[in-house]
Amino acid sequence: MAKPIYDITPFTLIDYPDKTACIIWFAGCNMRCVYCYNPDIVLGKGKMSFEDVCLFLQKRKNLLDGVVLSGGECTMHKHLKEFIMQIKSMGFLVKIDTNGSNPALMRLLIQEELVDYVSLDFKAPPHLFKEITQSDLYKPFEETLDILSGAALPFEVRTTVHSGLLQKSDLHEMISYLYGKNYKHIFYIQQHINNTRTLGNLAASDNDLDSAMFADELLEVVVRN
Ligand code: SF4
Repeated sequence: MAKPIYDITPFTLIDYPDKTACIIWFAGCNMRCVYCYNPDIVLGKGKMSFEDVCLFLQKRKNLLDGVVLSGGECTMHKHLKEFIMQIKSMGFLVKIDTNGSNPALMRLLIQEELVDYVSLDFKAPPHLFKEITQSDLYKPFEETLDILSGAALPFEVRTTVHSGLLQKSDLHEMISYLYGKNYKHIFYIQQHINNTRTLGNLAASDNDLDSAMFADELLEVVVRN
């Protein structure tokens, strides 16, 4: 049977807000974002089974608050729900990092109270989405955003910005869109990390954004570097 997990980061203080956590990196993705700096994870094969990860987590019980499911795209994996049930039975909180491509699973996980926090990627406005993600998955992203907006659990929307792909006018459009969707949380902008291998062949990003530039926006915007 194929192994779904590419790797584990055993400890992080920055990937789950206000919690100690580990990160489970799922192999494979249904997008091919040109700025993606995890090509080995997206294109590579998994090296660990769910059982391997559960053995690791057993040893972290009561030492970590939560588990971050990231990738790649964790929601495209079969048996994710059953895996999360095992994680939660060990007492961990679960955070999901997703590109939003599997709204049906997100709805199910929320209904069954199997997820505690979601970080949703907002890749681009519709006219740029296909060019940046090499996918036709904008509609599922929108559906996932609507599901999260109507749910009680905490979530955040975040965008990775490469100056050659997204202009400030695109970011304004995305902020207006989120505001129109009644998004009430912080919109996080992450500037592209230069000098890393990416899926596309990108020149360096200007990385000239800061939070103060967005002070007059309809939403609170925080630029993470
Ligand atoms: S950046 Fe894009 S291609 Fe890379 S893991 Fe995330 S969704 Fe997949």
